[in-house]
Amino acid sequence: MGRCRLCRGVDYLCSSHLMPAALFRLLRSRTVTPRDPLVISARSTFQTSRQVSEHLLCVDCEDRLRRGGENWVLRHCYRGGGRFLLREQVVRSRLLDDGPVGRIYSSKSNPNIDSGALTFFAASIFWRAAAHAWQIPGRMRGSLIDLGPYQESLGKYLLGQEPFPGSAAMWVWISLYDKPSRAVTTPDSSRICNCHAHTFDIPGIRFSLFVGRTLPQFVRLMCVAGGPDGPIVASYAPDDILATQVSQISQTTRLSKALQRKGKWSWSP
Ligand SMILES: [Zn+2]
Repeated sequence: MGRCRLCRGVDYLCSSHLMPAALFRLLRSRTVTPRDPLVISARSTFQTSRQVSEHLLCVDCEDRLRRGGENWVLRHCYRGGGRFLLREQVVRSRLLDDGPVGRIYSSKSNPNIDSGALTFFAASIFWRAAAHAWQIPGRMRGSLIDLGPYQESLGKYLLGQEPFPGSAAMWVWISLYDKPSRAVTTPDSSRICNCHAHTFDIPGIRFSLFVGRTLPQFVRLMCVAGGPDGPIVASYAPDDILATQVSQISQTTRLSKALQRKGKWSWSP
């Protein structure tokens, strides 16, 4: 029993995952043993069957987050074997721009793309990352990102009490590589286009959340929720960034070098 972090009601609390359990199943290898995914952090690299979870949400809120976006997004992310339903739909959508960062498509032009599910799913992950002091293997216990006053706004959006915050922007990137990396990253903060942003990845898709009243107009226009065309960026950049991060970390962690020597994992963006 406890107080649900989202609706604030006192009820039985679920063991809530930071990243959906279905993602973990997606990352388990069918052919290589041990099958568990590799966890890579700045301090260590290891394989684990343990998922990050804490008693956080009541059954109703847990169910609400799953139905509101998770089910659709995980069906449409890269699932291995060339199956990437979101990309199939995005590249059939109206092309808005073809620039140096990538091709920008209009999700609003394609009824088979649920931009609401993409926004809701990503908002739920960012909200969870900021709402609790998570114990992540290889790092100190703590919340992963700080959303400031937007924590409450996003919570009300997830509960259906308010629209997606007007002074926030959610960017969605999809990978153009034939075989996108089958990697999941937990939310982290960095600077994108000189703005403070929070980012996480699931296979084939990167989500970036910008918050603040002084966001440049182009950042707002690129918001999948509030931008007039619901833009989605198709690019090689997310996988390239991940590959750089992994190679930097693997040079500093001893265990990962051992794993590389054994050939237990490979990087193939
Ligand atoms: Zn609740």
